[in-house]
Amino acid sequence: MSTDCLFCKIVSGQIPSAPVYEDEQTYAFADINPKAPVHILVVPREHIGSVHEAKETHRALLGHLMWTAAEIARLKGLTNGYRIVINNGTDGGQTVDHLHLHLLGGRSLTWPPG
Ligand code: AMP
Ligand code: ZN
Repeated sequence: MSTDCLFCKIVSGQIPSAPVYEDEQTYAFADINPKAPVHILVVPREHIGSVHEAKETHRALLGHLMWTAAEIARLKGLTNGYRIVINNGTDGGQTVDHLHLHLLGGRSLTWPPG
């Protein structure tokens, strides 16, 4: 855990969140500023700063995060489609430096993103 990390504090329960799904490796919760009717963040319990900083030892965890996002989409009934997004670094629009997948759905999403 990184002591000054917002999402580490959410994972540990120090900061409240609306849980959606959890297992030994991951925690998923509602985005506080949703950009779609369904907007869920899926994070590893372990602090990893970004996908770019993930190590080779994290390969299985990265796959598990992707599977988890798809599983949540199934549980939420997003049968018409959805989007999974990872923002990375300044140009990628990352604002919280703890790896997270955005699961967005419930409306038709435009492409390309801004
Ligand atoms: P990113 O810009 O990809 O780093 O995404 C960070 C996301 O975290 C944004 O969509 C924010 O709305 C969301 N966020 C920030 N603070 C909280 C919080 N306390 N609880 C839930 N989501 C948050
Ligand atoms: Zn963290």
